[in-house]
Amino acid sequence: MKKRIVIALGGNALGSNLSEQMKAVKTTSKAIVDLIEEGHEVVVAHGNGPQVGMINLAFEAAVRSEVIKDNIPMSVCVAMSQGYIGYDLQNALREEMLNRGLNVPVSSIISQVVVDKNDPAFKNPTKPIGSFYSKKEAEEMIQKGYILKEDAGRGYRRVVASPKPVDIVEKETIKALLNSGQLVIAVGGGGIPVIKDGNHLKGANAVVDKDFASSKLAQLIDADFLVILTAVEKVAINFGKENEMWLDELTIDEAKKYIEQGHFAPGSMLPKIEAAIEFVNSGSNRKALITLLEKAKCGIEGKTGTIIK
Ligand code: ADP
Ligand code: MG
Repeated sequence: MKKRIVIALGGNALGSNLSEQMKAVKTTSKAIVDLIEEGHEVVVAHGNGPQVGMINLAFEAAVRSEVIKDNIPMSVCVAMSQGYIGYDLQNALREEMLNRGLNVPVSSIISQVVVDKNDPAFKNPTKPIGSFYSKKEAEEMIQKGYILKEDAGRGYRRVVASPKPVDIVEKETIKALLNSGQLVIAVGGGGIPVIKDGNHLKGANAVVDKDFASSKLAQLIDADFLVILTAVEKVAINFGKENEMWLDELTIDEAKKYIEQGHFAPGSMLPKIEAAIEFVNSGSNRKALITLLEKAKCGIEGKTGTIIK
C-alpha cells in the first residue's frame, strides 16, 4: 500500500568528506528510488555533522588568517551545508530515477526551522563544532561573545545550542510538491534554525538535531512512516554488552522504560528513539522504523529493522 514516508538519512548515507559524499549519494539514491518505484511518497531529510563542521572550519581559518573580516554565523553555515548536500543528493537521485525510466522531478527546499528563543538548550550549549583553540585564543573569542568549552582535555572548542524544532517555515511548499508527485529533500542538517521576531526570521546560533527535525516534518506533513536510516540494522538493549538483544518491535511504553534504564546513548541512539516516540504519539496509525540504509525497503515491508508503534 502506498505510504507517505519521511526518510531521515544519517552520517553513513553521506560520508564525511567531499569525495566520500559523491560516492555515498549513489548508494543512498538506490535505496530511496526503490521506495519511489514501490509508489510511495517520499521526503528526504538528512544530517550535516561533518559538512557543517567543514564549512565552519574553512571560514574560521579564513578569519584567523584575515582573508575575510567577519565570521559566518552558524545559521548561514547550516544553510550552506543544506545547499551543498542537496545539490549532490538531488543530482544522484535524478540520475538513478532516469536510469530506471522514472520521470519524477526532484528538488531540495532550503528549509528554515523555527526554534524557541527561550529553549533551555540556548542556556546550555552542548554541541561542539569546528577547530580546537588554546586557552589564550579561547579567552579572546569568549571576549567577542563566542561560547567555548574545554573538550576532553584536547583544547577549547566552540559549542552551539541544539534547541528543539517548533515549526517548519516551508511546510506548505514541501506538501504542495509532495501532493503533485514530486520527490523532495527538506530540513537538511536539521533545518536552518531561526527565531521569530514579528515577520522577521532571525538566524539562531544553533544546530538542530536532524532526528527531531525529521520527526517534526513527518508530523506536519501527516506522514504514515518516519524511517530513520543509520549505521545499525536494529535497535538494541544492552548495546555492546554480552547480553545485547536486538529488538524487532518497540512500544512507546517499552521505549520510555529503556530510556530510563539508559539503554540508548545520548547524541546517537537516544535522539532517534525520542524523535520516534514523538512522531508515533502525534497521531493514530503513525509508525517509526530504525534500520540500515540498505535495508530501507525490507524494513518498510516489515522484514527487518526495529518498528516503534
Ligand atoms: P546517525 O549519523 O545516523 O545519526 P549516530 O552515530 O548518531 O548515527 O547514531 C547511530 C549509532 O548509535 C549506531 O551506529 C550505534 O553505534 C549507536 N547506538 C547507541 N546506542 C544504541 C542502541 N541501544 N542500539 C543500537 N545502536 C546504538
Ligand atoms: Mg546522529
